[in-house]
Amino acid sequence: MDGDHGLAVASRHGLGAIADETAAIASLAAVVDKDGVYPAASMQRLGAAGAFGLHLAAHSLLPRPSLAGAVDAMASVSAECMSTGFCVWCQDSAGWYLEQSDNLALREKLQPAVASGAVMAGTGLSNPAKAMMGTEAFRLRGKRVAGGYMVSGILPWVSNLGEGHWFGTIFEDADDAKHHVMAMIKIGQPGVSIKQNANFIALEGTGTFSVLFARAFISDDQLLADPLGDMMARIQPGFILLQTGMGLGIIDAAISLMREADVTQGHCNHHLDLRAHAAEDYAAGLHARIGQLAATPLERSRRYLRDVMQARLDVSQFCLTAMQSAMLHWGACGYLEGSPVHRRLREAWFVAIITPSIRHLKSEIAALAEA
Ligand SMILES: Cc1cc2nc3c(=O)[nH]c(=O)nc-3n(C[C@H](O)[C@H](O)[C@H](O)COP(=O)(O)OP(=O)(O)OC[C@H]3O[C@@H](n4cnc5c(N)ncnc54)[C@H](O)[C@@H]3O)c2cc1C
Repeated sequence: MDGDHGLAVASRHGLGAIADETAAIASLAAVVDKDGVYPAASMQRLGAAGAFGLHLAAHSLLPRPSLAGAVDAMASVSAECMSTGFCVWCQDSAGWYLEQSDNLALREKLQPAVASGAVMAGTGLSNPAKAMMGTEAFRLRGKRVAGGYMVSGILPWVSNLGEGHWFGTIFEDADDAKHHVMAMIKIGQPGVSIKQNANFIALEGTGTFSVLFARAFISDDQLLADPLGDMMARIQPGFILLQTGMGLGIIDAAISLMREADVTQGHCNHHLDLRAHAAEDYAAGLHARIGQLAATPLERSRRYLRDVMQARLDVSQFCLTAMQSAMLHWGACGYLEGSPVHRRLREAWFVAIITPSIRHLKSEIAALAEA
């Protein structure tokens, strides 16, 4: 793993196509946000440009696979449109699960398509993560049958989905609550369907659906880990660190918004608590911490995990603080329906509530400190 930073590294290695695509995403942000249009073409082009493989050994266009590179690519996308940035995170996470799986046949079959964006993919780990923490019951249960499992249940919200898309999740063995199994699921395979049952205040264009499992046969060749074993420990730091790309992108956007506001309203903004230069200094510190943590995503120490969660928490909290300040810099112009400030504020709240949410992270950090 390389701790160096993504787009800077990418442009040194001639990966300007990722940066070019990122610029194109800006023009679609309002449509994705307001009309809930899934950015399929942007995702395919980002995939083709190599954005989803930067952290994967067999697919990285960088000299070494770099989780920090993936974080930075996601941050650049999120600075323009965080809905698209979240779809990138979903895609990156699915690639990461395949990277850590011992099922080499499944990795060989699916990872190239996920890395190149030929197949879209996501992750349904919110419920399993909380179930394993003991705060929710598993929503998916599987019964062992010849050649696989029969799985039933409903996952309320999984993103970056559509017909033929894949996602990773974990179910509990119906006959043994201590036995958990992680698998890649294809939307549209017999027994697996999606339903849109909610409207959100943002992130409407992220292909977010309920996933219904009605005695769905999940074959052994779809299993990422059975039993789950240490798979969760292997994927967790990478999964959490990748999410910081969304938050860092919003923070960058907030700093730009503060600067833009100052062009015409600078004379009124002098005494605000958080100004662009201070936000930039704090963001640079976060970026450096994340780059360092992202260099060793397979580390297992309690201290490391706590640092990863703290970094993710700090990004979430600073995302809110920075966007709040951007709103104050813009005043009533930011309060207009459809203003960039309005969209970024709603996006920043998402960073704070997506699993692990701020309250979830605080519980986990407290538990790690006590143990
Ligand atoms: C737009 C959108 C897209 C999403 N996309 C995905 C996706 O792609 N994949 C996915 O897996 N999920 C996705 N989610 C789900 C998301 O990650 C959260 O799981 C979901 O929003 C539920 O969060 P929550 O606020 O209810 O709980 P959280 O804040 O995540 O967790 C709180 C948990 O703690 C428990 N709890 C509360 N108080 C206490 C207490 N005092 N002691 C112990 N436990 C307590 C609650 O029962 C709950 O389980 C998405 C959600 C949205 C809104």
